[in-house]
Amino acid sequence: MIDTHAHLDHPRFDEDRAEVIRRAGAAGVFRIVTVGCDLKSSREAVGLAAANEAVFATVGIHPHEAEAAAADDPEMIAELAGNPKVVAVGETGLDYHYNFSPPAVQMDMFRRHVRMARTLGLPLIVHEREAGEDLLRVLREESAGEAGGVVHCFTGSRDVAAGILELGFHISVGGVVTFPNAAQVREVVAWLPLDRLLLETDSPYLAPQVQRGKRNEPANLPHIAEAVAALRQVEPERLAEVTDANAAALFRW
Ligand SMILES: [Zn+2]
Ligand SMILES: [Zn+2]
Repeated sequence: MIDTHAHLDHPRFDEDRAEVIRRAGAAGVFRIVTVGCDLKSSREAVGLAAANEAVFATVGIHPHEAEAAAADDPEMIAELAGNPKVVAVGETGLDYHYNFSPPAVQMDMFRRHVRMARTLGLPLIVHEREAGEDLLRVLREESAGEAGGVVHCFTGSRDVAAGILELGFHISVGGVVTFPNAAQVREVVAWLPLDRLLLETDSPYLAPQVQRGKRNEPANLPHIAEAVAALRQVEPERLAEVTDANAAALFRW
């Protein structure tokens, strides 16, 4: 299995990062995509990918960090993207739940990332929370379908999911699918085409229900895969095969 979205650079892994990566492998998670959230974490992601065969990196500025970013950070991100183990641009997107950066600033940074991904020929890692309509509008206006990508940790409606799929994007699900109150997520997971589905942990955040509230790590991915397999009524081995192939198609490895 492949954990398509984790934050291995996070300080919560400082004590035992090598052990976390080893445990993932022992649990059958043979690849981890570690996702950059700003210039510093993008640099760290690239460093972790260079040092660990199983780890790949993405580089980008999270909507939360859009306002804090320096004017030339996007250029530095584009430069980092040239590293051979960088497989996507992001995470980028829109988060109107927290609005840590003003929506207009998030929007501008998001558009820049979509253009960057198209120019570089890399897919996008997109974060969306309570911003489905604006997200789809930007993706359409910026012809994001040419780059392709994934909307990660998806918690939106089936209508928004349909719009994302129409653009040729994938949808990734994590531990939220195991939460008792996540009926809408389960409905979308049960409904979407299997060849567009990806699995992720979003470590260290959003541990699945069995570990809820604790630090999440990529070794927990099998708990998520099990819940998704049950919703899809497929064998866990079959789900792993399909989602591995989906990740390979998206990240082109
Ligand atoms: Zn995110
Ligand atoms: Zn993330």
